[in-house]
Amino acid sequence: MPYISGKELLTHAYENGYGVGAFSAHNAETIQGILTAAEKEQAPIMIQVGQKVIQNIGLKAMKAMIDVYMEEITVPVAIHLDHSREVQQTMEAIQLGFQSVMFDGSALPFEENVEKTKFVAQAADHLGIGSEGEIGKIGGTEDDITVDEDDAMITSVEEALAFAKQTGVDYLAVSIGTAHGIYKRPPNLAFDRIDEISSALQKPIVMHGGSDVPDEQVRKAISLGIAKINVDTELRVAFTKGVQDCFKKDPKEYHVAHSLGQGRSYLQEKVQEKIRLFNSQGKASLL
Ligand SMILES: [Zn+2]
Repeated sequence: MPYISGKELLTHAYENGYGVGAFSAHNAETIQGILTAAEKEQAPIMIQVGQKVIQNIGLKAMKAMIDVYMEEITVPVAIHLDHSREVQQTMEAIQLGFQSVMFDGSALPFEENVEKTKFVAQAADHLGIGSEGEIGKIGGTEDDITVDEDDAMITSVEEALAFAKQTGVDYLAVSIGTAHGIYKRPPNLAFDRIDEISSALQKPIVMHGGSDVPDEQVRKAISLGIAKINVDTELRVAFTKGVQDCFKKDPKEYHVAHSLGQGRSYLQEKVQEKIRLFNSQGKASLL
């Protein structure tokens, strides 16, 4: 079980100019699809546990399931807690043995975001795992919280730098023109800002809402310092299409293993495609 600290993983990607996919898992089949894709591509990855699946299945159960499937895996993997809005839940994930945690205080006043994120970052650092914080408003809908795409503000260099310095987070999610969920119109990433923030911070930057961002924009963003790309929506779409195709062929397919199995294989293909786009294929042996 080659677990790796999120900090070590993303620092390597940042310094070597490739991106690490942070793929959201939702059940056993999505865990299998993500891990199999990483193994096939010999890519280091992050597997994300988000708020929806924590409500649905539970934090501890997801960690235990990932641990079981990891027994077959040889590539470096970090289990990451995505968008935690409670310090207590973040601490629980750290205690359970996650290799990376995100405390998202972006909806809080700056000072409170700093205070809570700093607390989490110090706890994570103490145990040698990675921490992510967020500054700025990322558009779209995440865990039933919606930020209108027009209201999403591009994070300023000053606030990103002040936040990173005061909290000590290892990597930073900023608002750079992406949005969570399905895009109303194609995004236009703020490349100059990514470049400025990355140069000022000298730390990996995280792209949230990585689904359906045009490939060319993703490649350019990685070249400018994006080292972690969150992919959730596109994987759920692929998984659901697989299940739908199964029922289109046979509406009376009552073997859940067959329908969910087809979902898993569509998702696995999508994860492999993303790994190649991020240029992290074959990078497992370098870590
Ligand atoms: Zn996000």
